Amino acid sequence: MDWEIPLHVALRSVTAILAIIAFGYGVARAVSVRGDGWRRGLRALGAPLLLGVVVLSVLDLATVLTQLEVPEDTVLEWIWTALDVLVPAFLLLQMETWRRYDRLQAELAMLSETDPLTGLPNRRGFLARAEPAVAAARRDGRACAVAMLDLDRFKAINDGFGHPAGDAVLRGAALTIAQAVRASDVTARLGGEEFALLLPGDDPAGAARLVERLRAAVAAGVAHPAGAGQRVTFSAGIAALGPGGGEAALEAALSAADQALYAAKAAGRDRVMIG
Ligand code: GH3
Ligand code: MG
Ligand code: MG
Repeated sequence: MDWEIPLHVALRSVTAILAIIAFGYGVARAVSVRGDGWRRGLRALGAPLLLGVVVLSVLDLATVLTQLEVPEDTVLEWIWTALDVLVPAFLLLQMETWRRYDRLQAELAMLSETDPLTGLPNRRGFLARAEPAVAAARRDGRACAVAMLDLDRFKAINDGFGHPAGDAVLRGAALTIAQAVRASDVTARLGGEEFALLLPGDDPAGAARLVERLRAAVAAGVAHPAGAGQRVTFSAGIAALGPGGGEAALEAALSAADQALYAAKAAGRDRVMIG
């Protein structure tokens, strides 16, 4: 029948085109994204399958176009020809679903590790970044220190000038601290007006020198809502990271630094103490 050849050619062409797009898309994604094991496996299976679909479709197209007749004129054959379109279409949809899923997951991971007010990592982000940084320092035989910083009399800023003014001070302090540390240091806002630093390569004395620099930078660079006569200050505690790695060692060091911070507050604030 007249319509059979164009319909067959159209279906086969759509199959071949979709399979080529799906193959290219799959290869591009496989190169650019490091997926987990089973997805890599499915891509590895999908690539030869799609190439096979392309080859068979093109061979079939060539046969139909040269002989100008559809090979077998059965209903079953038509159903198969139509279903062939679904193979690359399904794989293409599946890959697009994975792509969205990967992007969403990356966005979610980023959000769950970030403090929205300052853009710094939160406690979870701190632990996630600190562990590999500690492991790298340990491999190189370097020391590691942690510091806890807490803004002084911050409640008075909130009470006297309002919460938005307090937020502005927090953002200013976070920015100043983040800009003054080294790229390999990890800075985080643990909550409230409390910041944590992981300083790979520093012993407590080196860490204290760095935090003293931060104290001067915050005092000089963060505007106090009361005006130029008042400085924003913080107190800090420093502790060395003990042997062993992982979250337990970090938590222990943070708690030692917190005790030193408490001592710095008790000693009059606006100072750095080593625990
Ligand atoms: P100290 O010198 O002993 O640290 O005194 P402080 O006033 O800084 O400490 P305190 O713990 O009494 O007060 C901290 C305040 O920080 C109380 C809380 O309302 C405020 N705070 C916590 N999170 C935020 C925030 O995201 N934005 C603002 N503006 N304030 C916050
Ligand atoms: Mg405080
Ligand atoms: Mg506090």
